[in-house]
Amino acid sequence: MAELRLAGRPASPGFAEGVLFHLVERSVTRIATNDSSREAADLRRAIADAAQTIGALAEKSEGEAAEMLAFQVAMLEDDALSEGAFIEIEKGSAADQAWRQALDAEIQSYRAADDEYFRARSADLEDIRDTVLDHLSGGGSVLAVPPGSIIVARDLPPSRFLGIDWSKGGAILLSEGSPSSHVAMLARARGVPMIIGLGIVPTPDATPVIVDGASGEAFVEPSETTRHAFLMRQRDDQEKSGRAASVASKPAMTADGTPITMLINIAGLDDLEGLDPSLCDGIGLVRTEFLFGEGPDLPDEDTQYHVYRRMIEWAQGRPVTIRTLDAGGDKPIKGLTIDGESNPFLGVRGVRLSLARPEIFRIQLRALLRAAVHGPLKVMVPMVTVPSELEAVRMMMGNAFHSLKSEGVTVAVPALGMMIEVPAAALAVSHFNADFFSIGSNDLVQYTTAAGRDIGAVASLADVRHPAVLRLIELVASYGVEAQREVSLCGDAGGDPTLIPDLLKAGLRTLSAAPGLIGRAKLAISEFHLGQSGGR
Ligand code: PEP
Ligand code: MG
Repeated sequence: MAELRLAGRPASPGFAEGVLFHLVERSVTRIATNDSSREAADLRRAIADAAQTIGALAEKSEGEAAEMLAFQVAMLEDDALSEGAFIEIEKGSAADQAWRQALDAEIQSYRAADDEYFRARSADLEDIRDTVLDHLSGGGSVLAVPPGSIIVARDLPPSRFLGIDWSKGGAILLSEGSPSSHVAMLARARGVPMIIGLGIVPTPDATPVIVDGASGEAFVEPSETTRHAFLMRQRDDQEKSGRAASVASKPAMTADGTPITMLINIAGLDDLEGLDPSLCDGIGLVRTEFLFGEGPDLPDEDTQYHVYRRMIEWAQGRPVTIRTLDAGGDKPIKGLTIDGESNPFLGVRGVRLSLARPEIFRIQLRALLRAAVHGPLKVMVPMVTVPSELEAVRMMMGNAFHSLKSEGVTVAVPALGMMIEVPAAALAVSHFNADFFSIGSNDLVQYTTAAGRDIGAVASLADVRHPAVLRLIELVASYGVEAQREVSLCGDAGGDPTLIPDLLKAGLRTLSAAPGLIGRAKLAISEFHLGQSGGR
């Protein structure tokens, strides 16, 4: 057979070589009893068993994986999910039929959602559906995946991912899928290459294939020339990883000696587990919305305080920038964000929502003021558009400070800065009385180019290198020099070695990126000659 090139959308980088393994939908072999009370009892038992199976997997998992599985257990335990199935059983349907029908309807509504976040959650529901069906049919309908396989599927349920042995390599090729699905997050965290949106893969099991997760390409039955080029790229990548590891805990500096401050982005304490603080010069972004989970139970003051305090203690004197809640847009929180906004990215998100819900925001500010006692804390406000928003936050922080003082609580006042994510804020930067600025390039790019950050079809327009975006970055960076206020960048671009030279040329000297990207980012900085192009 001639070589077949498959091109999709990258969802997790990395190289893999192996043979194809098609994951087929599970088939259920169950004989119905024609007795509605027995059917209902069987379904109830299968749901409980599925919750136990997933719960046991959650106990063996950590961090994001454990949270995602706990979310599945909570969904299974919610009677609203199975209500429709039990009604159908009453009417005479078999348990498996009724369950499949009820879940399929739910999955369809998730798949049809405007928001990519909700579309991505449909894989969790499929996972739940299949696990219950598996228990209804006595279990064992899941085919074991040979370790090292290149898995082909329409989408991959997260619990299925976690049940696969990835120690021998392997990769995932999905005909559909989403880069913000749980399985994509898990693949990135485990270093499993993954490509989505590939359409149908027409070749049978056991066909040899090579996968380049970063470029979103897979070659079935690769020619010798393609394989050779692939191996060269893989070797180059391994060699770069080695060099990146060797510079990871050294201070970042350009090839011609300009020091660069390198901070990390985190979403919670899990990200700091086993991480050496000497990797970075501090924390540049804590995305606190992940602490707020899926809602509706929001974390209380003490819970928040302890989390913030532990982050500050981890940093051992290095600055820690905690962003106030940035719910809304692609980060909905049940019971907090507004449902049904026609365009959530242009709606009540970030500071707009915090100011609209002062009773919740006040709790976060109080926790931050208490945590500030333990080290150099910086509080950062997202999605600021006009100066009065920042002033309103400053005023609320002042009030919280006085209340805590009068209650006899020890507090300290942290620096108060803002994100530059809205083009209006970038253009009018000198109007804002912020102690520091951090450019959120993910949102700044989408708002400048009118290309949604979660819409694959316009991904090529949403480019940091667009001259308008670079001009805005330059403007903010040069204002920072003039007004002596720190300007950093904490969007994904800060950890992208191919973009770092442009960011430094635009005048930035502080970047913040995910911990796993720091080595590659420092390597890119060390190989770049800033010369006279530094924008200062
Ligand atoms: C950004 O917009 O670049 C940013 C860092 O914020 P988030 O990605 O959390 O919206
Ligand atoms: Mg943002």
